[in-house]
Amino acid sequence: VAKEQGRNRYQYFTPVMQEEALKRMRLISDLWGALNDNQFRVYYQPIVELATGAIFKAEALIRWQHPTRGLVGPNDFIPVAEDTGLIVDIGDWLFNEVASQMVKWKQHYPNLQVSVNKSPVQFRSVHDNCSNWIERLEQLGLSGENFIVEITEGLLLDARDSVVSQLNAFREAGMKIAIDDFGTGYSSLAYLRKFDIDFVKIDRSFTSNITPNSSDMVLCEAIIEMSHKLGMKVIAEGVETDEQRDLLRNADCDFAQGYLYSKPITVDQFEQLLNATQSNFTLN
Ligand code: C2E
Ligand code: MG
Ligand code: MG
Ligand code: MG
Repeated sequence: VAKEQGRNRYQYFTPVMQEEALKRMRLISDLWGALNDNQFRVYYQPIVELATGAIFKAEALIRWQHPTRGLVGPNDFIPVAEDTGLIVDIGDWLFNEVASQMVKWKQHYPNLQVSVNKSPVQFRSVHDNCSNWIERLEQLGLSGENFIVEITEGLLLDARDSVVSQLNAFREAGMKIAIDDFGTGYSSLAYLRKFDIDFVKIDRSFTSNITPNSSDMVLCEAIIEMSHKLGMKVIAEGVETDEQRDLLRNADCDFAQGYLYSKPITVDQFEQLLNATQSNFTLN
C-alpha cells in the first residue's frame, strides 16, 4: 500500500499532461519563428461614437497567420507569450506596425485614435520600457494623441513605481489610457482616484446580457455614471444587437465596440469602412 501511495504521489506527469507539455513547447518555438517570419497581423475593430454613429477610434488586435493552422486568435497564444516573456517583443512589433500605419492614416484621418493592448507583463518587464514606444512616435513624427493604451485593473492594484512612471510618460506624450475589461478584475475602485484614466471599457460579460432593468443594465448604468463624474468616457465592449446599442445609448454611454458594427478587420477593410461611413472627423 505504501508503495502504491508513494508511486501515486510521484506519478504526476500523465500522458495527457505530457502531450500538453509538448504542445506548449511546440507553441513556444513556433512563436519565436512567427516573429522572425513576420507571421503576425494587426486587425482593427472600429469603436463607434453612440450619439453620432461616427468612427474615429479602433482597437488594434493581433492575429497569427500560422503556416498550417490558419489565422490564430490571441487567446490561443498571448497567455504563453506572457509566460515566456515573448509578449514584450510581440507587443513592440505590434506597436511599431500600428505606428507605421498611423503615419499613412494621419493624412486622411488626422483625428483617428488607435487603441493598443499592453499587458502587465509588458509593463513589468525589465526589457520593456515605454520609452521604446514614445521614441518610436518621435522618430515617425507622430503625436501621442492618436493612441490609447489599454491596461487592466490588476496592473493598477499592484502598481509599482516603474509602472506609475511609464503611465505618466505615456500621458505626458499625449497618449490616452483606457481600463480594459472593466469590472472583471478586482473590486477595489481606489485606483481610480490615484491614476489619470481617460476611458473605461465595460467588459462584454456585462453588456452581452443587458435588458431593460436587468441587474447587468443597472451595473452598466452605474459604471457609466461613475465614470462620467470622474471625468472618464465609457466604451462598451461586445455590443452585438440593436437593443444593446439602444439601451447603452440611452444610458449615456459614449462609445460602443462589437460585432453589431464590425468584427476586427484588416487595414484595407477598415479603410473602406472609414471612407464609407464618414466625411468629417472630430477628436473626442
Ligand atoms: P480585449 O482587449 O478585451 O479585446 C476584445 C476582444 O473581444 C477581441 O477578441 C474582440 O475580437 C472580441 N470582441 C469584440 N466585439 C465582440 C462581440 O461583439 N462579441 C464577441 N463575442 N467578441 C467580441 P480577440 O481579438 O480574440 O482578443 C482577445 C484578447 O487578446 C484581447 O481582449 C486582449 O486582451 C488580447 N490581445 C489582443 N491583441 C493583443 C496585443 O497586441 N497585445 C496584448 N498584450 N494583448 C492582446
Ligand atoms: Mg483590449
Ligand atoms: Mg477588452
Ligand atoms: Mg478581454
